[in-house]
This record gives sequence, structure tokens and C-alpha cells, in this order.
Amino acid sequence: MDFEPTETQQLVVRTAREFVERKLLPVAAELDRESRFPSEQLSQLAELGMMGVNIPASLGGSEAGAVAYSLAMMEVARGCASTAVTMAVTNMVGEVISFFGSDAQREQYVTKLTSGEYAAGAFALSEPGAGSDAAAMTTQARRTDDGWVLDGQKMWITSGGKCGVMVVWARTDTSSNRLGHKGISCFLVAQGTAGLKVEKKEDKLGLRASETVPLTFEDCHLPADALLGEEGQGFRIAMMALDGGRIGIASQAVGVATAALAEGIEYAKDRKQFRKPIADFQAIQWMIADSKTELEASRLLALRAAELKERGAPSFSREAATAKVFASEAAWRICDRMLQIHGGYGYVRDFAIERHLRDVRVARIYEGTSEVQRTVIARSLLRG
Ligand SMILES: Cc1cc2nc3c(=O)[nH]c(=O)nc-3n(C[C@H](O)[C@H](O)[C@H](O)COP(=O)(O)OP(=O)(O)OC[C@H]3O[C@@H](n4cnc5c(N)ncnc54)[C@H](O)[C@@H]3O)c2cc1C
Repeated sequence: MDFEPTETQQLVVRTAREFVERKLLPVAAELDRESRFPSEQLSQLAELGMMGVNIPASLGGSEAGAVAYSLAMMEVARGCASTAVTMAVTNMVGEVISFFGSDAQREQYVTKLTSGEYAAGAFALSEPGAGSDAAAMTTQARRTDDGWVLDGQKMWITSGGKCGVMVVWARTDTSSNRLGHKGISCFLVAQGTAGLKVEKKEDKLGLRASETVPLTFEDCHLPADALLGEEGQGFRIAMMALDGGRIGIASQAVGVATAALAEGIEYAKDRKQFRKPIADFQAIQWMIADSKTELEASRLLALRAAELKERGAPSFSREAATAKVFASEAAWRICDRMLQIHGGYGYVRDFAIERHLRDVRVARIYEGTSEVQRTVIARSLLRG
């Protein structure tokens, strides 16, 4: 076991950190206030290789590995969680296409994601009636003479209207009335395809600079080579992608909590009550100590899952779920404690802590809720 980052990992962290300090921290509050999609920042991140951290260099990626990706995500999320989630989904989509795509699909799409030619990638799995139970999806892909026709609705799609390409899951086998994970396939859909309609943007509690939209597919014709992987393999592809995605969300939570803790400490040293800094009170010190402890544990869990992924372990589902549930819940507690340290000033927009609290809440919901992560962990243990 080696806790020392490699030279490549150190370089990725330094690059991300410098970008965060110079380009992201100065605008994060404004992006949030104006609910402005961070196009410029994403394009700069692509130039720095952050849109394909774990993608082969032959496809324009940085080929720095899953641990470097987790470390980069922690840094970017420290600066702006909205930018971080957009980067996370783009990396995830690039990785999925790199792994399951044909040479032609990789060539056509991955290089555009890594280079920033596409502002983002999107992952369209959830539907209005199929969230935790993704296999209950009703979007259908019907085979035609020369390809496929998609019909259905997707919900909560990050960057659905801003992306250049999206991976869309649909049912290709409707022969059985029983809905289930069998007979689901996945497709690559380019932005602007006829029959794809991007609906009204969600007005969210947090991550306000990221875009979340419902999508409607109506008689949406796709060429035969839009199929990603094999027919019927879609659910497996989704689950594999989500295992990696959960490491990304755990890392995002660590990044936001890191920012929150630093701001809480700063404020505690500065704010005086009863003629001394509130940092002198044990109640405040314990909030800081508990937060640091949980933050370090979260960080190690995320990096352990990332290391397993990087090593090519046959499965890292349980470790990814463990990291995600712990880090997202700890980050919520940390942001809440740090807001408490700010007193009334934490409840207004003058300080960043209220944004962190709003931004971090969704980490317990997306890419599988905390309840779903616990189910993944328990099932894996009970299987023996
Ligand atoms: C900001 C944001 C961005 C998102 N981005 C994307 C995206 O890019 N792509 C995408 O496909 N999806 C995306 N999602 C969707 C997200 O993954 C879902 O919201 C999530 O999976 C939960 O589904 P749901 O909202 O339908 O809740 P539900 O599944 O309806 O769950 C409601 C509650 O019931 C609980 N529950 C459900 N089933 C069980 C069970 N078996 N046991 C115990 N408890 C259970 C849940 O844990 C939750 O507390 C995004 C969501 C948000 C809010």
C-alpha cells in the first residue's frame, strides 16, 4: 500500500489546483447566482486534459488513471461543484465510449469530448418513472431497415442540452411484458438529431450552474451504428459506468467538503464573541475535528475505490458504493457544521458556505441514492 501520489498524479493535482485558484474560485459564486453554464471554464479544463483524465492518449485523453481522475475531481469540486459535475459526466461518457465503442465511434466522439470541441457529454439513463429502478425504463428503440427509432422520455439529464453527444438507454426487446434489465441497449445520440427535444431546464436547489433537463425522443431516427456495445448489453454498460461514476461523485463530495472545512476554520479564527475568537471554544473545535476526521476517511475510501478500478480489479462496485455513501453523507454533515460555525452569516450569500451546502446535497441522490448504495453493499456482503 502506497499513499504517496505518483509524479503523474502530482502533476494532475497541481494543474487542477492552479486552474481552480486562478480561474474557478473567482467566478464560482457568480456562476451560481446567475445559473450560468460554465462553457468557458469547461473549455479551459479540456485544454488542460481534464475531460479525459482516464482516457487513452490515442483518443486525446491524459491517460493518467482513475486515481488521478479522483484527485482532479476533488480539486475542481473545491472550486465549483457545478463545473465538477459537468466534468464528471463528460469523463464518464468518454470512458464508456472508449471502453465499449467501436473504433469508428471512439474516433467520432471521444476525441471531441477530450479536446473540448464538445462542451460536454451526457448520460441519459433516468426517466420520469424510472430512477432508482432504472430497469423499469420505458423508452424504446425499434429496429428499422437502416437503423433504429427512439421514442420515450428521459429525466434529470446533466448537460442534456449542452452536450455534443449523449449515451441514451432504451428498451430494444419488448417481447416480454415483464419489464426488467434484459433487453436494454444503449445508443449514441448527437446533439441536434431530429426527433430529440430538450425540455425546460430544472430550477434546482444547488449545482445551479450545471444544466439538468428532461429530454423527449419522438420518432428519433438513428443510424445502425448508433448502437453502443451489443444489443441487450445496455444494463451491464450502465452499471459498469455507474461504478466508476460513483467514485467521481464521492470525489466531488470530498472536494466540496474540503472547501467548506477550510472556510469554517478561517471564519472560526476570525470571528470574535465573548472577547475571543470562536475557535477557542471547544464546541467549535470538536466540529472542526469531527469534520477533518470524516473528510480524511472519505478521501481514503474514494481513492481506494479508484485504485481498485485503476488496477483492473474484476469488481469494485462495493468499494465505489461504500465511498459514495460515506463521502456524500459526511460532506453533508461537514457543510452543515461549517454553516453552523458561521452562525447567521452562514445563512446568507455573503459567504460561500451556503452554496456548498446547497451544492453537496444532491451527492446523496444522484448516481444512485444513499439507500441504493447501501443495498449494493449489503447484497455484495450477503452473497458471501
Ligand atoms: C441534479 C441531478 C442531476 C442528475 N443527473 C443525471 C444524469 O445526468 N443522468 C441520469 O440518468 N440521471 C441523472 N439524475 C437522476 C438521479 O440519478 C436520480 O434522481 C436518482 O437515481 C434517484 O431517482 P429518483 O429521483 O427517481 O428517486 P426514486 O428512485 O423515486 O427514489 C425516491 C426515494 O425512494 C428511495 N428508494 C427507491 N427505491 C428504494 C429501495 N429499493 N430501497 C430503499 N429505498 C428506495 C430512494 O432512495 C429515495 O430516497 C440526476 C438527478 C439530479 C437531481
